Amino acid sequence: MRQRFDSRAIFAAVAAVVVVLAVVVIATGLYYFNTITGLVVQADSIMPNDQAEGAAIVGVTARMVIIVVGATLLAVGAIAALLVYRSRRELQGERYVQSIYQAIGENIDTAIFIVDGADRVVEAVFENVQDILGVPATKFFVMDGLSSNEAYAKVAAIVHSGASDERREWEFQCFNAAFGRDMWLRVTSCPVMLGGDEKIIYSLTDVTGEHDIRQRLLDSVAAAEEANHAKSNFLASMSHDIRTPMNAILGFSTLIDRDADNPQAVREYNRKIATSGQHLLGLINDVLDMSKIESGKTTLASAQFNLGETVASVDAMMRPQTNAKHQTFTVEMAGVTHEALMGDEGRLRQILMNVLSNAMKYTPDGGSILFRIDGSLKRRGSLQHLRIIVRDTGIGMSQEYLDTIFDSFSREESSLTNKIQGTGLGMAITKNLVDLMGGTITVESELGAGSTFIIDLDFPPAEEEAAARAVDAAASRAVDADAALGGKHFLVAEDNDLNAEIIAAILDIHGASCEVAENGRAAVEKFAASEPGAFDVIFMDVQMPVMNGHEAARAIRALDRPDAQTIPIIAMTANAFAEDEREALAAGMNAHVAKPIDLAVLARTVASLTSR
Ligand code: ADP
Repeated sequence: MRQRFDSRAIFAAVAAVVVVLAVVVIATGLYYFNTITGLVVQADSIMPNDQAEGAAIVGVTARMVIIVVGATLLAVGAIAALLVYRSRRELQGERYVQSIYQAIGENIDTAIFIVDGADRVVEAVFENVQDILGVPATKFFVMDGLSSNEAYAKVAAIVHSGASDERREWEFQCFNAAFGRDMWLRVTSCPVMLGGDEKIIYSLTDVTGEHDIRQRLLDSVAAAEEANHAKSNFLASMSHDIRTPMNAILGFSTLIDRDADNPQAVREYNRKIATSGQHLLGLINDVLDMSKIESGKTTLASAQFNLGETVASVDAMMRPQTNAKHQTFTVEMAGVTHEALMGDEGRLRQILMNVLSNAMKYTPDGGSILFRIDGSLKRRGSLQHLRIIVRDTGIGMSQEYLDTIFDSFSREESSLTNKIQGTGLGMAITKNLVDLMGGTITVESELGAGSTFIIDLDFPPAEEEAAARAVDAAASRAVDADAALGGKHFLVAEDNDLNAEIIAAILDIHGASCEVAENGRAAVEKFAASEPGAFDVIFMDVQMPVMNGHEAARAIRALDRPDAQTIPIIAMTANAFAEDEREALAAGMNAHVAKPIDLAVLARTVASLTSR
């Protein structure tokens, strides 16, 4: 601890005074001694005989002066020695106390300083004040409330305010110029009586870390509350959104029972059940997608695809819906040099469908929608840049809502949107996918006037040969299910009776036959026991008891028989993401088809694997 007044200085001053006094006394003594001796000599020479007695007196006086000077010198010497001794004792004691303060200061994060209650001058301060404020202890004694160091100035203001004359605590944020950062400081004051005078003991602590932790806790509580709120909202709307198609499915299946002998009515009910089922599936996919994206588990596939075909398939999916609403749907593609690209076509289609189906949903009957892909804008190296523009003349959005359009579960609340089905997940998924692809998405909108979404993406062009293959593959897309499946014998590994029944029925309708194995091990055993070539294709569910689909595929590939390596194995699973497909391929399967089964995809996949 550094003190304002040093007792060593006082002792040094006293010692100096004593020495000066001693010198003065000695000098005076010597002066008188010389003078008296001189007088004696003079008296002897002037009055050699008559005055001898007087000279003797003078001689005695001179000796007395010598004795007095000697005694004074002894006394001064003794006092000086005493002072030096005391000074050294006090110095030792002071050094010991200092070493205690220093040890405390070095080992705690709090600086202590003592201020005089009357004149507000700092009398002592821990050296570690420098670590906390960046101000050396030597500069701390006369506190400057106008310092450019805000941290120091605020502490000074507290000291000078007089508010600290009672036990108090302050906590405040300030910029510390010495460290070039914001910090949180805590100051406490405690008035005490020391040696009959009123003093105030202050403590000064840097609580920035504590504050950060507290702030992070508060933030996470707020985030948790917000997430909870969003999820409650979501569950409420999900419950509504799920019930609506479920209600249709259950209602129409009851009607099918009632009108079983009216084939036309049954077909119509069935069509409605299928539409509701598709809607439900879309909902489930969105929720799963979002949770996967949020947990960072979404990865992108990289395969060749043809942009022209992607646009055509999106057009084909959208047009019946826009036609039904009498909307003008314009599709344009211009300036694209490479139509054969590498990337995740499924995810690109998902992005396009999300934005386009919103344009369709939120544009009233008779409105118009423009879907434009411009490939002529800026490029990154050899990448094909795509600027995707979706413009509609729909209901538009308020500027406030645009700030939250990409948040999960957010929907603009209005009498118009309330009537339109949705979960508020589509835009959040779209934004996440665009980010994942390294692109950008922006939106401009005006209530009542319409909206424009602009998405910028870059894709590497596929190589020539690959492009040709993509075109070949595309050419073979429309495959007749009867031709692809008819006459073939399948081994179906499926633990769910209902799913097994559905696939058996589909195969039967298209002239194929199958044997069902209720788990992976049963499938391996059935295949091992069959004649080579008895099965044309194996459909493999992935999640099954006893042995899962991946293990079963590996076991089949490891069998010692001629067709173990060649029999096509198609993963047929509800795990419909790119990484599920990768895992299936890594386990030795040839392809991956997502459930619920899309007959066209199934037929195409079987045809591509059996026609070689
Ligand atoms: P939803 O399932 O509700 O459509 P989205 O995440 O796809 O969820 O969209 C979020 C919200 O953004 C919608 O509920 C709607 O309010 C608004 N929105 C999105 N696209 C459009 C558009 N083209 N026109 C008007 N509003 C839109």
